[in-house]
Amino acid sequence: MPTTEKIPYIPLTEVEQSAFCRTDESLDVKPLAEEFAAVVSWQSIPGEYHYLGGEELTRRIREARNALGTRLVILGHHYQRDEIIQFADFRGDSLKLSQQAAAQPDAEFIVFCGVHFMAETADILSAPHQKVILPNITAGCSMSDMARTDDVLDCWDDLTNVLGEGGIIPITYMNSTAAIKALCGRNGGIVCTSSNAPAVMKWAYERGERIVFFPDQHLGRNTGLKLGVPLEKMLVWNPFKPLGGHTAEELQRSKAILWQGHCSVHTRFSVAQINKARAAYPDINVIVHPECVMETGQAADFDGSTEFIIKKINEAPAGSKWAVGTEISLVNRIAQENPDKLVFCLDSVVCPCSTMYRTHPAYLLWTMDCLLRGEVTNQITVDEETARYARIALDRMLNEV
Ligand code: SF4
Repeated sequence: MPTTEKIPYIPLTEVEQSAFCRTDESLDVKPLAEEFAAVVSWQSIPGEYHYLGGEELTRRIREARNALGTRLVILGHHYQRDEIIQFADFRGDSLKLSQQAAAQPDAEFIVFCGVHFMAETADILSAPHQKVILPNITAGCSMSDMARTDDVLDCWDDLTNVLGEGGIIPITYMNSTAAIKALCGRNGGIVCTSSNAPAVMKWAYERGERIVFFPDQHLGRNTGLKLGVPLEKMLVWNPFKPLGGHTAEELQRSKAILWQGHCSVHTRFSVAQINKARAAYPDINVIVHPECVMETGQAADFDGSTEFIIKKINEAPAGSKWAVGTEISLVNRIAQENPDKLVFCLDSVVCPCSTMYRTHPAYLLWTMDCLLRGEVTNQITVDEETARYARIALDRMLNEV
């Protein structure tokens, strides 16, 4: 049905984003009870896990890990805290982790220490006998939550009504629900990652004259600019306004329609922070993620995915200096692994991704204790039809780009 005026909706994951911002630079694990004091809506688990300190959690997770052996594979996204990453059999970005999980046929359980959409992708790509588990079921992603499936379906109806069938190619960033990936699969569209977004967008422009990009307007805009799409031809779709806030003529003149979504973490990085880093260190290299706003990306020396940022700094000469615009747990890890370089986060306030942060070690321990008792908790499943079409969009990315 056509989009009507709707009441604006702010996801809880966005509201809670600043709950764990700190100025003391410490991200050490605190007992769950202390984290709950920030009044956040995390999944409730038995009280016996609430008061366990970091050392006890580490010891018990190690014991449970050993007891489960090869039945279990633990995936750790780059933005997880070190206390989780130390147990990860694989670490990486969301696609890389799902592919690695699928390549472990012995693993009956895939515990995905990441966020909800990643676990969905792992379920789509893994074998039928494998069970994908998200330790804390409330670990969503605020960007993904900004694109509710019904709003996206309304947008798609509007666009096809105005532009006609085949008038637009849908692209969704990996950070979206399986239902949105399926919409892309059904309608000649495709999935992208922050690494391959330019190649995917090029693929789409070879098949249609305009694109709609879900759900991150910044990745969409930054990628469009790299491909030479004029800024004035890129419109932002406001899901709460009829026709996304545009006239039919404006939509017909456009080259790209960008969903009004953003990453709560990466939009914190600013040109002012870059100027401050350059004033302190004239020979600094500034490297940021393409989910940052356009002005920040343009002021930086380099922009690219998490894998690009890691590789670029790892391969840089000793003594080089790096101000980094991405999630703080990853920046701290890169700094630790490159002691011969100066590596620091552009933002002086320590703000972890609050949804990644929800995978507190207590949840990992609880998940594994349940498995040892024969109980599978927080299994993430995608229904067969959604998975089939989402897989089509994923396969186009994997095989055609
Ligand atoms: S860093 Fe941003 S895009 Fe990534 S999981 Fe967190 S909120 Fe979502």
